[in-house]
Amino acid sequence: DVTQTKGNEFEDYFLKRELLMGIFEAGFERPSPIQEESIPIALTGRDILARAKNGTGKTAAFVIPTLEKVNSKKNKIQALILVPTRELALQTSQVCKTLGKHLGVQVMVTTGGTTLKDDIMRLDETVHIVVGTPGRILDLASKGVADFSEATTFVMDEADKLLSPEFTPVINQLIQFFPNDRQIMLFSATFPMVVKSFREKHLVKPYEINLMDDLTLKGVTQFYAYVEEKQKVHCLNTLFSKLQINQSIIFCNSTNRVELLAKKITELGYSCFYSHARMLQSNRNRVFHDFRGGVCRNLVCSDLLTRGIDIQAVNVVINFDFPKNAETYLHRIGRSGRYGHLGLAINLITYEDRFNLYKIERELGTEIRPIPAEIDKSLY
Ligand code: ADP
Ligand code: MG
Repeated sequence: DVTQTKGNEFEDYFLKRELLMGIFEAGFERPSPIQEESIPIALTGRDILARAKNGTGKTAAFVIPTLEKVNSKKNKIQALILVPTRELALQTSQVCKTLGKHLGVQVMVTTGGTTLKDDIMRLDETVHIVVGTPGRILDLASKGVADFSEATTFVMDEADKLLSPEFTPVINQLIQFFPNDRQIMLFSATFPMVVKSFREKHLVKPYEINLMDDLTLKGVTQFYAYVEEKQKVHCLNTLFSKLQINQSIIFCNSTNRVELLAKKITELGYSCFYSHARMLQSNRNRVFHDFRGGVCRNLVCSDLLTRGIDIQAVNVVINFDFPKNAETYLHRIGRSGRYGHLGLAINLITYEDRFNLYKIERELGTEIRPIPAEIDKSLY
């Protein structure tokens, strides 16, 4: 069970009083299992490689020790939290600000979507913790705008994504700007082999935490429905009318399909937002913010949104297009079963998707059953 802990209390870690206040005000009563494992080790300054399922509180697991280590009296960047997407950067900086509310710690978020000039001005003032995406951070570091020479904490969230070939060259350059005694912490739900070479090159005797088990999709009931491509919208309409959706996320495999589907859903008379990689960053931010605030019930998107994003009100995830691999499936479906909440995942399967369905089922050791005529509300 994700909420099954060893019984530690936040008070056990001798954190600053102001930090404890922030934690409790955020509504956290006890550390989650990943927090119990990582906070005491992280506070010793040791490198960490931590793996735990989605929705188990990894963010606070690195934000709490990061905040504890920062000296707010010192006018230097002391920590970098690197994440793969802009949405996640915003969400993570918000967690820093919430938990660090009483610490006087200055958090700056920077992603490719903001202007470089704004960042430069912002960095003229005091910044203790920087949260951002790789490209922009490297840009700031190599232009000498952001000084990481005293940044002794370097966190990578969704680390396997950050260490995929797409980002590795950037990360390898970026790391040169950090002091030798930096602490590196890698967090993710999935840790494939890509991490191995980084680990050998840059980590010092990392403490390994692995809280993954086959409970990854626990709490999420998964169904599939066989449909022809041209029946998908009709099928979705039926689902909308039958399910009791609190909030739903509907995934398509391409940006074009996201826009087309969003239009069709609106035509069917359901409220819906959409978000994809080709949209303006400011629009993406607004959509994400409003969806999260409950302004709209349904969100159509491509995979850009799947990693690490946490919206507890989502109780139904629909794969309008079935994903190509098990990892993507896990990241999409992991949305609905967060922190012990129940959820429903429904996959629209075309003839071509069949083999993939079996493959993913086998790889994840999970069960995706044919959709019944009625779905018991107690499941989600
Ligand atoms: P992960 O990164 O592991 O997917 P998140 O850090 O996004 O998970 O956290 C998932 C949810 O759990 C968030 O809504 C967060 O506020 C909540 N949460 C985290 N830690 C605790 C805690 N100790 N007590 C209660 N809720 C928590
Ligand atoms: Mg996360």
